[in-house]
Amino acid sequence: MSPDIHYSVVIPIYNEEATIPLLWGRLSKVVQRLDSPYEVIFVNDGSFDASLKLLAQLAENNAGLKVISLSRNFGHQCALTAGIDHAKGRAVILMDGDLQDAPETIPRFIDKWKEGYDVVYAVRNKRKEAWLKRLTFKLFYRINNALSEIPFPLDAGIFSLMDHKVIKELQRMPEHNRYITGLRTYAGFRQTGLLVERESRQDGAPRVTLSKLFNLAFDAIFSFSKTPLRVATIIGLFSAASSFIIGAVGLYYKYFLGREFLSWPYGLSTTFFIGGLQLFFLGIIGEYIGRIYDEVKNRPYYILDKKIGFDD
Ligand code: UDP
Ligand code: MG
Repeated sequence: MSPDIHYSVVIPIYNEEATIPLLWGRLSKVVQRLDSPYEVIFVNDGSFDASLKLLAQLAENNAGLKVISLSRNFGHQCALTAGIDHAKGRAVILMDGDLQDAPETIPRFIDKWKEGYDVVYAVRNKRKEAWLKRLTFKLFYRINNALSEIPFPLDAGIFSLMDHKVIKELQRMPEHNRYITGLRTYAGFRQTGLLVERESRQDGAPRVTLSKLFNLAFDAIFSFSKTPLRVATIIGLFSAASSFIIGAVGLYYKYFLGREFLSWPYGLSTTFFIGGLQLFFLGIIGEYIGRIYDEVKNRPYYILDKKIGFDD
């Protein structure tokens, strides 16, 4: 934390050349009106368009605008982590760089922070996105909440403000499959949500592709819940118990009624069913083992290539 910088705004950027001028146009008006010194940290996450060039030009002409450039594309959550690690503000604001998070909301976050909240997160009351994506998100938040060991706020994503003490705790959470929204909730302290409308994307298709979103959803579920493993145990117990019952019924049919209980097609479908169930839960165990493997390798979350506008 630096005594001079009160607010850090961290924004991950992956091929947002079309949005950056608009974004800075709106954001600069907001930060310049803040009551205390600020920094805006753009994290270039391996963009292959002109994003980095644009950001470097902006950094030259605007004090307080800093750029971190990663060595390749590490993904949204790792880019945010890189930004968080370099943020010096007493309060750190995370937002997306596609203008889905309106910069004009930042002063509302700061007001809440001044009231004494350590975490202020945006709750999306409306998402201007395709209905299927909205529905999937709604479902995800609810499933995740039902499974997780701590209650997650519903419909809250990255867009948030965190006090520096929360940031310090985030940095003590070394997991590699980072789901920052979850880690932020895990940190605790005084948290509150603000109803915010989520804008539609300024330009082009989402940079977080569907497969990356599913990965993130899996990270969210498997990093915060052991329930899937417990479900395997319970289903295993049930199916073992049912096998005794079916066996007993089979014997009754054979010796008392003199006929077979089930014919072979049923036996075959049961075999496939049990086999499928076993593979399914092997897959679930695999999800956990894969995550353990990532932890054991202990590779860095991101690799820096360049820093622009930083003092050190
Ligand atoms: N982003 C990133 N690295 C990636 C993908 C996305 O830094 O690999 C950035 C992207 O430029 C944007 C933010 O993360 O600023 C959110 O991305 P996107 O809008 O695609 O996510 P969505 O809003 O669909 O969840
Ligand atoms: Mg977006």
